[in-house]
Amino acid sequence: MRFTPQKIEEILVTLLGPEGTPLVRELIGKANVSEFDLAVKTKKDIKIIRKQLYILHNYNLVGFTRKKDKQKGWYIYYWTLLPENIKFNDYKMKRNLLEKLKMQLEEEKKELFFVCPTTCVRLNFDQAMDFEFRCPECGELLNQDQPEERVKQLQKKIDGLEAEFMDLKQEHKKKKKQGKERKKVVKAKKKAVQKKRSSKQKPVKPKTKKRENIVKKIRKIVKKKR
Ligand SMILES: [Zn+2]
Repeated sequence: MRFTPQKIEEILVTLLGPEGTPLVRELIGKANVSEFDLAVKTKKDIKIIRKQLYILHNYNLVGFTRKKDKQKGWYIYYWTLLPENIKFNDYKMKRNLLEKLKMQLEEEKKELFFVCPTTCVRLNFDQAMDFEFRCPECGELLNQDQPEERVKQLQKKIDGLEAEFMDLKQEHKKKKKQGKERKKVVKAKKKAVQKKRSSKQKPVKPKTKKRENIVKKIRKIVKKKR
């Protein structure tokens, strides 16, 4: 699965906030864009652009090259998005989210929760007991929460993410298989070439065989003498 520009934009804007949208749009599909061009095109201050670029760089989602401006004597940085890293970063974040959701679900299933009737707080059993089952905010008596809806929502999110991972896995497998088959073809070709070559080569020189025999004989003689 290759990420669409929309998907890339969505991921990067999650990191930068909506104010990063113009920069991200200028970077997508281009390579080695000068930071000054980025500032001009987004109509933003170079400092803001640099700050956003550094954030992306911290996540390793953007790479740069720099060139010295001979006239002015300073370096100009040219930026390029790294789509593979963006993909991997997205995968990592989703993995973490999945772990978190699973833990939450576990807790929802094994813990008892209590809520204030006017929704000030939601406390687990121990916390509720500490407050003698009264809301610490408004003093109302707490009710036991019905977690069914929450559990359902969590399960839905977990299922969605797991299905996505399953797709990724299958895609990975497919790619691996394709890679293996490609290797096989390359190997077969190599073999064919070698065969052709070796059939052209002269048969193994008898000279070396003779030499070996002579060496053996000499060794025997030396052994006997000892
Ligand atoms: Zn309350």
